[in-house]
Amino acid sequence: MQYDYLIVGAGLFGSVFACEMKKKGKSCLVIDRREHIAGNIYTEKILDIQVHKYGAHIFHTSDRRVWEYVNRYAEFNCFVNSPVAVYGEELYNLPFNMNTFNRMWGVKTPAQAKAKIEEQIKELNISEPQNLEEQALSLAGKDVYEKLIKGYTEKQWGRSCKELPAFIIKRVPLRFTYDNNYFNDRYQGIPVGGYTAMVEKMLEGTEVRTHTEYKEFIKQCGAEGITFDRVLYTGMIDEYFDYKLGALEYRSLRFEQEEMPDCANYQGNAVVNYTERSVPYTRIIEHKHFEFGSQPGTVITREYPAKWEPGDEPYYPVNDERNEKLFREYKKLAEKEGNFKLLFGGRLGQYRYYDMDKVIAAALDMAESEA
Ligand SMILES: Cc1cc2nc3c(=O)[nH]c(=O)nc-3n(C[C@H](O)[C@H](O)[C@H](O)COP(=O)(O)OP(=O)(O)OC[C@H]3O[C@@H](n4cnc5c(N)ncnc54)[C@H](O)[C@@H]3O)c2cc1C
Repeated sequence: MQYDYLIVGAGLFGSVFACEMKKKGKSCLVIDRREHIAGNIYTEKILDIQVHKYGAHIFHTSDRRVWEYVNRYAEFNCFVNSPVAVYGEELYNLPFNMNTFNRMWGVKTPAQAKAKIEEQIKELNISEPQNLEEQALSLAGKDVYEKLIKGYTEKQWGRSCKELPAFIIKRVPLRFTYDNNYFNDRYQGIPVGGYTAMVEKMLEGTEVRTHTEYKEFIKQCGAEGITFDRVLYTGMIDEYFDYKLGALEYRSLRFEQEEMPDCANYQGNAVVNYTERSVPYTRIIEHKHFEFGSQPGTVITREYPAKWEPGDEPYYPVNDERNEKLFREYKKLAEKEGNFKLLFGGRLGQYRYYDMDKVIAAALDMAESEA
């Protein structure tokens, strides 16, 4: 059993890379410690509905190469993400747009909305924002900040906006049209039949072993007579090196799934954000609406931001100065690994928040650059 590549992680990065290397005639073995393929984009059918088990995943891109690529492995529907935000008894369209401003102040024209925001910004008189709160106030004014940004951001980071640095928010996207489409990208949709089926297709003809942890697997390779020339590792780079330089930090999430066999429509939209700090979750996903489902029941997931401890699922890297510096040190270590060629890819290997389209583009580029 001699493979050209051992690919650690059957997520999107590992699967695209495996698919491309197979086309080049290379043999790959893909392993994943989870019991399933597809990593965080894994979807599972429950009550006949494709449930996004690791949070809502909406495919969007402006990269034609990536859009054409994914369309070879799945048919995409015409879902457009138009979330709404709940603040107490009030309900607002997102992203912040003319529908939001009309609901908030009764204004009808872009000029009226701009005047209202400018008036609020001027009243605050913040010249040099010292923290995230002042930054957001100076960009969006009091009402948008207090009703739609403050509580949500504080829940996400687990800290008061006054204690968070200003640089986290560079700009607040304010849209002066009646357009509820969350993304500005040219292409958008959800793969019909779920993401897992799309990844299955990418991995067709490639050997995959789930429930297989890299370090354990390596120990058994000798006994099983398995060899490989190169490794692509899409897990956490610091974990690969046994945290010898220290642990990189993440934010985590907790998902609480509820099946409702007798409720056909719980919230009328795929994504509803809860922007008050007193509500412990940040959003509720109702999965059937991603596929315009008409099933008799429904499945919802409440998403709770959570502190990350080693062993928890690492969802969002904390790209501050300390962690960026540490990541660069780990990268140097990776470059020094000499006995076989070691590649790091994906959101954990690169310690970056990567949307799916960027992950695919990076995996395609890496595959292209391999001999
Ligand atoms: C809550 C949330 C919502 C998101 N929503 C969107 C969205 O709407 N649109 C969008 O474009 N992107 C979205 N993303 C980003 C998207 O999830 C990622 O781009 C994508 O999943 C990254 O794929 P990956 O292969 O790099 O990582 P992963 O999917 O994490 O795959 C890595 C795999 O490696 C395995 N692994 C790790 N270490 C080991 C080991 N030591 N041994 C064996 N296996 C190992 C893991 O089990 C995992 O399956 C979202 C991300 C999050 C967290």
